[in-house]
Amino acid sequence: MADAVNMVHVSTRRHRQQQFRRRMENTVTSPATVTSRSPQRPSDVVMQTPSTPPDAVRAAVTAARAAGMQWSREPASRRAEALDAAADRLAAASDELTALVVREVGKPIGEARAEISRGVAILRYFAQQAYAPTGATHAPSTHGLLFSQRRPHGVAGLITPWNFPVAIPLWKAAPALAFGNAVVLKPSPAATATATHVMTILADALPERLCRLVPGDAETGAALAQAADCVSFTGSATVGKQVARAAVASGAPAQTEMGGQNASIVLPDADPLSAARHVATSAFSYAGQKCTATRRIIVVGNNNAFIDAFIAIVEELTLGDPADSSTMVGPVINEFAQGTVLHAAAHATRDGGRILTGGGAPYGEGWYVSPTVVDGLAPDHDLCREEVFGPICTLLRVPDEQAALRIANSVRYGLVTGIYTRDLDRALDLVDGIDTGLVKVNAATTGVDFYLPFGGTKDSSSGPREQGTAAQEFYTQLRTVTISPSSG
Ligand code: NAD
Repeated sequence: MADAVNMVHVSTRRHRQQQFRRRMENTVTSPATVTSRSPQRPSDVVMQTPSTPPDAVRAAVTAARAAGMQWSREPASRRAEALDAAADRLAAASDELTALVVREVGKPIGEARAEISRGVAILRYFAQQAYAPTGATHAPSTHGLLFSQRRPHGVAGLITPWNFPVAIPLWKAAPALAFGNAVVLKPSPAATATATHVMTILADALPERLCRLVPGDAETGAALAQAADCVSFTGSATVGKQVARAAVASGAPAQTEMGGQNASIVLPDADPLSAARHVATSAFSYAGQKCTATRRIIVVGNNNAFIDAFIAIVEELTLGDPADSSTMVGPVINEFAQGTVLHAAAHATRDGGRILTGGGAPYGEGWYVSPTVVDGLAPDHDLCREEVFGPICTLLRVPDEQAALRIANSVRYGLVTGIYTRDLDRALDLVDGIDTGLVKVNAATTGVDFYLPFGGTKDSSSGPREQGTAAQEFYTQLRTVTISPSSG
């Protein structure tokens, strides 16, 4: 209740002031430098470094392209060995890197450690992908040999967000390198120190100039999107669309992985406690700062058993210092994000929503927001349609599955949907009707298997899928080779 009262005081004016301060005070970045601060202790500046100007981005791409030419001619075994060596180095740096991820982006320590392990697994997996078939042979129309062959593009420009500062750069860089490209990474300003550490590990295991880091923000990213030979972006839908346009203008293939407004649909026959646990994890682990986080919980029928269990679990989530292993919900990334979530909660109550739990900012130095659940909004309210990247979700009550399906599909995003039921027929029926790129039955919407294709529909993604064997399609282009007998 105190939280709800606290929340009401966060006015639109304060939010605007925060927006203005963020621009003026270099909370995250200014055109000349990038600064990352620890979200749990904003006075702790983790890294400050000059932004890379556009000319220097183009120079980095040119240098990487030359190194990439050599690299693309190396045998697959050499590429596989180098990626394996990078995996060894990453594993050896796990403790140090875990601590840095916790400090720089406020990720709870258990999740941070798991992300480094995932990074190691990604490198090992793509080390083996270097041996994947690169084409197919065909019967020639006359005599000789006719085959298709996948070849690298040259320089892969990678533009990444801060929320998976190890895994996302690696799930782009590892396949790019495995298939013979050079990489230039433009990380989020808020994760510059982690990106620097990861790229140093990669660079140490690979030939000189093949892996480059260009710290910076929008200007640096825009320059990379124009200069690279293919562009892989992960971030918000607004920026993703700009990046895709820049890449198309320069003729480079692009893939963009963007936001979500993900629904978890709870059917009346679902196991209430198990569903409540999964949905609470989906909505609030890492303070809801995952593209796959559940933002809307669509409850079919009268299911107070689920709702009561869910709210009880959310109220027991430990909010606190991400370095403490008992913490499940740490801070949000910066003051602007904190203001955005609080403002969204205030806006929702003004429009008739009811805060079931949370809604406020606990006191203390860090950028914390209590896990917040809003009930009673119309499905077309902004909070149910647009992505608010933090610990806030809405509860929507519907009479039947058809209404659940219609509402789940009614947003511009299409990343992931969760379905909770014990009835396989109903699950299959809903899976058929859902229009998102991933569907999960009785499992959290968060969590991605790096060995399967990953991506969404509508405004959540564009271009070929990332990860798994699908990555080869994006990081290479096909050519056809015809060899006829010399005396034909
Ligand atoms: P963001 O869009 O603000 O920034 C992403 C990257 O783009 C950063 O490196 C940023 O510096 C860069 N950038 C900003 N303006 C640019 C421009 N004009 N040209 C080129 N680059 C530019 O996103 P964020 O705040 O870092 O991350 C949060 C967002 O990422 C959320 O929307 C979340 O859903 C999304 N996300 C998506 C996935 C996915 O796989 N679908 C995964 C993680 C995060």
